[in-house]
Amino acid sequence: MIDPFGRTISYLRVSVTDRCDFRCVYCMAEDMTFLPKAEILTLEELDRLCSAFVRRGVRKLRLTGGEPLVRKNVMGLVRSLSRHLGSGALDDLTLTTNGSQLARYAGELAHCGVRRVNVSIDTLDAKKFTAITRWGRLDQVFEGVAAAKSAGLAVKINAVALKGVNEHEFDELIEWCGKEGFDLTLIEVMPMGDIGGENRVDQYLPLSLVRARLSQRWTLEDIDYRSGGPARYVRIAETGRRLGFITPLTHNFCESCNRVRLTCTGTLYMCLGQDDAADLRQPLRASPDDHLLEAAIDDAIARKPKGHDFIIDRRHQAPAVARHMSVTGG
Ligand code: SAM
Repeated sequence: MIDPFGRTISYLRVSVTDRCDFRCVYCMAEDMTFLPKAEILTLEELDRLCSAFVRRGVRKLRLTGGEPLVRKNVMGLVRSLSRHLGSGALDDLTLTTNGSQLARYAGELAHCGVRRVNVSIDTLDAKKFTAITRWGRLDQVFEGVAAAKSAGLAVKINAVALKGVNEHEFDELIEWCGKEGFDLTLIEVMPMGDIGGENRVDQYLPLSLVRARLSQRWTLEDIDYRSGGPARYVRIAETGRRLGFITPLTHNFCESCNRVRLTCTGTLYMCLGQDDAADLRQPLRASPDDHLLEAAIDDAIARKPKGHDFIIDRRHQAPAVARHMSVTGG
């Protein structure tokens, strides 16, 4: 699939549920209203949709959410999608998780051919972790991460950079990741969804500043490595591990965008930072064969926008994008 700007679309991120067992302050309001179950695609429908994308040329699938591992029988979906790894149609089946359920599922994920997972940990301080996630327990996540490591999964840690919250903890995270053998990616907070009383301006910490600070303590070597996602990487000479920066605000990463995002209701977003979307549930349900669906996918890719322009400033108090990250998946 090639979009109007010549970009090959080979990466599909799928939010398998909008529900989560955490309520991270930058992601969700505490009293979220979730979708009624009837609106959510069944696991069989998600499989059909993902498989249609694989047939159209997607080589990398990432399951996300909400929290993908809280969806009932999600491992049934992972098992069935893993047939595309076996056939060679898919290079990579992976997921982004908060780690709370990883201790239970890491072994089976590895068994299905998943080779790596992204785990979101913004701080190594247990009290602060609970303050950020509202409902999370860091020891449970550590158990999950340890299980992933011993199952042979490569672990990448994702941390959202939050002004005044974890901005002085990145040295510690880098050291810990170095010791554990994990890569680390820092993410700028994006203005997505109403998050209740919290204010984006107060949360926003530009990664250009973080990078400048880190370079006083660590040797950051530029490398060409690309994971297929939006992060730009350096290698930290002292730990030998990679450090990624996802900077939608300080640097527009759209020119190399190879991704589209599917929600658990079958809505396809061609850009994380734009509202245009295509309903794939209707063509999926309209016919038992996939002709209508594949035509709708092609139409949607032909509408992929050039890029987004997130802005966070005091004049833009409303989120740039109304939906929460948990809808489209991070
Ligand atoms: N529950 C899983 C997890 O915690 O990784 C997957 C979904 S979560 C929405 C995916 C990623 O998006 C997490 O790393 C989370 O920290 C990040 N995220 C959520 N809201 C964000 C926002 N407004 N700006 C930047 N990153 C955000």
